Amino acid sequence: MEIIRTIEWMKQAAREAQADGRIVGLVPTMGALHEGHLSLVREARKRCAPVVVSIFVNPKQFGPQEDFTAYPRALEADKEKLEALGVELLFAPEAAEMYPQGFKTWVSVEGLSERLEGQSRPGHFRGVTTVVLKLLETVRPRLAYFGRKDAQQARIIRQMAADLNLDAEIVVCPIVRETDGLALSSRNAYLKPEERRAAIVLYRALDAARREIAAGERNAPRLQAVMRGVLRAEPLAATDYAEIVDADTFEPVTRVQGSTLALLAVRIGGTRLIDNMLIEPKGEDQDTFCVQL
Ligand code: AMP
Repeated sequence: MEIIRTIEWMKQAAREAQADGRIVGLVPTMGALHEGHLSLVREARKRCAPVVVSIFVNPKQFGPQEDFTAYPRALEADKEKLEALGVELLFAPEAAEMYPQGFKTWVSVEGLSERLEGQSRPGHFRGVTTVVLKLLETVRPRLAYFGRKDAQQARIIRQMAADLNLDAEIVVCPIVRETDGLALSSRNAYLKPEERRAAIVLYRALDAARREIAAGERNAPRLQAVMRGVLRAEPLAATDYAEIVDADTFEPVTRVQGSTLALLAVRIGGTRLIDNMLIEPKGEDQDTFCVQL
């Protein structure tokens, strides 16, 4: 695996692969890699060679009071994991390479970036879209892979790619969970043992809504109340939001119809966790739903 530190070198390696007619895939990450990230890499390997994985803890997507400094970094272990999966190119630039002195340009997707995660973390999504556009422009992949774990982020990136006529196809992959249901996240490393036990409440809240939907409930406020009830019963959990939204617009809905998402953001001690569940109509029948946790 080649480890690339500069944008120029990354561009050159990617352009050479493209000139050889190869299909370049990109998996952007912030490192501290877990099975969630690796599932994206495996998916990318099915259709792309070379696969470029980027590891960059992007300062511009963290608020001033957030965990940028504490965010887990594990480059040596990450390299081994990627090497074992046959990744050919690892792009791991320093912050000064991505944002040299005098950097002034931001990309932001209006509307979609302002609700939910965007409201709780002002400026977060413009940091994400700015860095992802820089990565897409550096690598110019045919396909770029993102996790549904960050559903709003994936939707915003898809919007940016469409609005700016980017060539990359945006592929969104399912959520990888621990056996007890907790969605894998680099931030799970912050959880103390009792918080780790409490953290499954996010999955339990989504699962409770799933069961209500299976039993015929379609009223969104009632489903939200079910999720909030489960979350309230966990003393270590403080709910930031628990909402059902249209999967395209991320606007709140009153009924489950078409594609919707149940979205959660919950603080467990000092750690903020997010999770979600995709609710989609099954085939032609608009009133039977397939729920993906
Ligand atoms: P991050 O390193 O947290 O920025 O995540 C990098 C990519 O991995 C993003 O597209 C995430 O949505 C995705 N990802 C993170 N956790 C998971 C997970 N548990 N399952 C699937 N994808 C994930």
